Amino acid sequence: MEKQSCIYCSAGLEKDAVALNKKLLGRSVLDFMCLSCLAKHLSSSEDDLKVRIKEFKERGCKLFA
Ligand SMILES: [Zn+2]
Repeated sequence: MEKQSCIYCSAGLEKDAVALNKKLLGRSVLDFMCLSCLAKHLSSSEDDLKVRIKEFKERGCKLFA
């Protein structure tokens, strides 16, 4: 599978980051952002996004399987 990269800074994306983009921006999203750029986009912080990834995993969200 082709590795996704951030549309803003071209950083390679972890599986969790891709899943979080889909979760927060919609499953059909094609322009993925790294956690850092996604945090700016959402006026949030990278740490907050990491917490949310953890929460989604704990809830058993299939996107994060
Ligand atoms: Zn980025």
